Amino acid sequence: MSAFPDPSAIQPRRRSAGRLLVVYIAILAAAVLLLGLLLAEVYRQAGLRSELDAENLAGLVEQRLSVTLRRIQGDLEYLAATLPSEALGQEHDELLRSRVERLLALKAERFPEILGYRVVDAAGLLRFNSQSGRAAIDVHDRDYFMTLRDDPSLFIYFSEVLVGRPTGQPMLVVAVPLRDPDGAFRGVVMAPLDLDYIQQKHDATKLGGRSLLLLRRADNGHLVMSRPQMPEESWALTERDLQAHIAGGEQSGSASFSSFDDIGRRYVWRRVSGYPFHVVAAIAPDDYLDRWWKALGSFALVALSLVLALSLVLARLLRAEREATTTGARIAESEARYRLLADNSYDVIWTLDIASRRLTYVSPSVTALRDYQPQEVVGQTLEQWLTADSASRLDGVIEQHLKRIAAGDRSAQVVTCELEQLRRDGDTVPTEAVVSYLLDGEGIPRSMLGISRDVRERKRAEQALRESNRQLRLRLDEIGRLQLALQEQAVRDGLTGLFNRRYLDDILEREVSRVRREGTPLALVMIDIDHFKTINDTYGHQAGDQVLRILAAALQADIRAEDIACRYGGEEILILLPNMPLAAAVERAEHWRQRVEALTVAHGEFVIAFTVSLGVSAYPEHGKTTDDLVRCADLALYRAKTAGRNRTLAYAG
Ligand code: GH3
Ligand code: MG
Ligand code: MG
Repeated sequence: MSAFPDPSAIQPRRRSAGRLLVVYIAILAAAVLLLGLLLAEVYRQAGLRSELDAENLAGLVEQRLSVTLRRIQGDLEYLAATLPSEALGQEHDELLRSRVERLLALKAERFPEILGYRVVDAAGLLRFNSQSGRAAIDVHDRDYFMTLRDDPSLFIYFSEVLVGRPTGQPMLVVAVPLRDPDGAFRGVVMAPLDLDYIQQKHDATKLGGRSLLLLRRADNGHLVMSRPQMPEESWALTERDLQAHIAGGEQSGSASFSSFDDIGRRYVWRRVSGYPFHVVAAIAPDDYLDRWWKALGSFALVALSLVLALSLVLARLLRAEREATTTGARIAESEARYRLLADNSYDVIWTLDIASRRLTYVSPSVTALRDYQPQEVVGQTLEQWLTADSASRLDGVIEQHLKRIAAGDRSAQVVTCELEQLRRDGDTVPTEAVVSYLLDGEGIPRSMLGISRDVRERKRAEQALRESNRQLRLRLDEIGRLQLALQEQAVRDGLTGLFNRRYLDDILEREVSRVRREGTPLALVMIDIDHFKTINDTYGHQAGDQVLRILAAALQADIRAEDIACRYGGEEILILLPNMPLAAAVERAEHWRQRVEALTVAHGEFVIAFTVSLGVSAYPEHGKTTDDLVRCADLALYRAKTAGRNRTLAYAG
């Protein structure tokens, strides 16, 4: 049998699985570390970028605003200087009006940051508007109007944020005063800044959802504009935090803090040069991290899937390793078990190489069976192993089954056959073998595995069984015969061998019923030996018995198969004759009488002759019941006696 695998050979595979696990964990740890470093770096970059972006935004907006305000101031001063003095008089012609309005419109043209240029008289009434045809507006209560009217030292004024009277738009008015050469107040020229437009132009939210762009008054800290729109209370908190930093009076600066909404931002402020405003840009690093978080999310998802896939592969590998290990161990175990079975089996287990027809393995029990050592038997041919008859039979069986297996008949893979094996001393041992064909990987039978059992005992037992069966059968036959005799004895009379009286009663009843049913005739003949008492008295009782026996035998030999002769009484015999009419019966009776008359019985030195008297009755002439028929026969016999004996009489009335 093949070498059994050494369980220690499995160990290296287990170690390789362990190494794989260590490599896997190392890769995972490295990936996690790398991810951590990447995170830290990205976080740092986000901080740097938010600061840079805040600087850039604040600088850009400050520049634009500075340019815009400078242009407005220039326009307003120009308009104030060039406005004809009569334009603000009580009366003026349409020509002048249209000239002034055209000038205003010319200046406001392609200047979307402002809502137009306007001229207001000393009473606060709007006199000219770059957007001609607009309703008259009274602005005498506006801060810019009142302040410029009341303070002759001011040459420009920036209002608080106002709500446009006809439009409802938020605006900040830039105004310069109109004064006479003598200094008398004559009104203002002003331009409302379109805060909505400016806000939209500098949309800080494009930088990220948490970023802010603010315009703050440098003189009183009021909020002019915020993007996105900021509620009053939020601004109050932000302004408080800003104050702490801006209070130093620097033109520009930056600080990082969390304000009203607890979101950390980089705040950068710039003073709009020459004007009382601060542009504040606040950028939240989280906005940069947001995108990064999203990227990280996808990355993490991919990484997780990878880890999962890797884990699955590893788990599969480990399981395969484990299964291989257990399968190996199981195979070794089962081989060991089979080997144990083979070595300790009473039956002889063997394998045969089909091509060479030689034994390749034989279990130790062969010694008991054939008186050879296993190693002597390995290599034996069929002829060395089996009797010539068995060898050629097995050879034939092998060929025949190989053909069937090749034809796809799976049932041919196992075969049972009786083999006579040769012992060392030349004796033979009858065995019975169960043989299986062992197929190789390609399904081709290469060898056979057989289990042979010594059937000597069984054969002996079978022989013994057969013998005892034969004996039993003989005994059974005997019993059958005895039973038959017993049955006969029950219905036969011991002395004469005729049917007895009990049997007669049965049969007579049945016969009469039958003839009544079928309407066939039936006759009875009653026979009595004449002067029998004298024979007894003269020759002895045994001679009498002998006479009875001879008479019975003579009658028995002279009746038909269907006739029934019975010993009716001591020396009276009744014969039943089915299907026999009266006349024929009388004739038969007479015939018997004559035969008896001719009979002689030898007894010792004596020869005994005797006669009989016979009475005949018949159905249906003399009666239709058994009693009537027997009585009539008896009566006929009685009459034969009284008429002189040795005669036959039929019943008559
Ligand atoms: P009969 O002519 O009137 O018939 O005269 P019989 O002497 O035959 O008179 P009966 O028939 O009455 O006599 C019957 C005798 O038969 C009586 C008995 O001793 C004798 N007997 C009856 N059974 C047996 C028997 O089994 N063996 C012998 N040896 N004798 C028997
Ligand atoms: Mg009698
Ligand atoms: Mg008699």
